[in-house]
Amino acid sequence: MLDAKSGYKPSAIWRSLVVGKEVLKKGLRRSIGNGRMTGVWTDPWVPSKVPIVLPRPNHIETKNEKVHELRTEDGTGWDEGKLAARFEEGMRSHQKRAFGCGARGRHVDMGNGQQGGLLCENGVQMRYGGILECSMCNNEPEGVFHALVDCPELQILWAMAKYDYSSRVYHTNILEWLAMEAAEWSDEQLASLAVAIYLVWERRNKKKFASEVIHAEELWQRVERVMDELQIVTFTEDRSKSEPISFEWEKPEYPYTKLNIDASIIKEGGGALGGILRDETGACVGAYTHFVQYPNDPLLLEAMAIRNGLDLAHKVGCTHLMVESDAKMVIDILRTPCDKASTLNALYREILRSCTNFQVVNFNWIPRMCNLVADFIFRKARIDCKNVVWTDSVPLYLSEVIFDI
Ligand SMILES: [Zn+2]
Repeated sequence: MLDAKSGYKPSAIWRSLVVGKEVLKKGLRRSIGNGRMTGVWTDPWVPSKVPIVLPRPNHIETKNEKVHELRTEDGTGWDEGKLAARFEEGMRSHQKRAFGCGARGRHVDMGNGQQGGLLCENGVQMRYGGILECSMCNNEPEGVFHALVDCPELQILWAMAKYDYSSRVYHTNILEWLAMEAAEWSDEQLASLAVAIYLVWERRNKKKFASEVIHAEELWQRVERVMDELQIVTFTEDRSKSEPISFEWEKPEYPYTKLNIDASIIKEGGGALGGILRDETGACVGAYTHFVQYPNDPLLLEAMAIRNGLDLAHKVGCTHLMVESDAKMVIDILRTPCDKASTLNALYREILRSCTNFQVVNFNWIPRMCNLVADFIFRKARIDCKNVVWTDSVPLYLSEVIFDI
């Protein structure tokens, strides 16, 4: 990146950045690796507060000596004779640190299994001209642009994004990127980027301060979720006042069958889904528990639980169906016109397609306390991790609880 030239839409800001990079370059001490690329007299390779290029003494005639030439032949140590011929005593200990420190992260192996790190002033995290190393890739200084956009770890996010954010590669600064490119974007593209960047920062902090790992592959899906929620909240603000008053599960009225579903993520990954179908007498006419490895997202799991419940209801011959869930967001989405191509909306369309198997389908949000049986089934699914569907007989554990709660 530091070798980027001003070839693309050069602007005043961009040109000044290219100049700025020369300054930045000076502020970065060189990564040594195996020392074959690093010049003894041309690169600032010795740890110091301010990066310095060492002055070459007159008796050393080779201008382009490489650092590895000062190492012993097997590469495991310094050639003390060569160091003594070139540097003063005090300087030599600094040079040794350039190879010797046990920095964590990805560094070139020195051949003896030892991590050949560099520039680790505190022995834990590397510093580049005062900027800490990126805690996600452990390989580059963590400037704002790197941490939020350019880190190699994040490239999967930009690749999965449904908008084209490829112009980022022509910039080294977020404001500059937006100032030059975003005028042509839709509001949604811009908002999605803001959400993405927020989630990237949150992910970075979770790793750095709580050692919690969020896979970069999940980031775009999370962006879509936030965008979905945003749309739903905007659409349903005035609807939320007309929610149910009852706080008990109620039998459906003939000819309706009622489907109650519940779902939740499982900490180890994936989730558990459960659903129960009851007729106008309150009798169970079908139930299921499903265990899925993917996704690990509460809203998607709730939507999957509804879809599976609809399949079951169709199988047992329901014609009029009331679907109840305590996931308000999912029910709101099912009542809201949505045309975006998110994963949740793909499920939503599948659900609407399933609805055509019935004469009538209603979706209702109910408070959690009215959904206890479904909640119970899903807890069972979470423990059993099995996929089971009952249509002809009620499972024993259910027949015991169904009239108690
Ligand atoms: Zn990084």
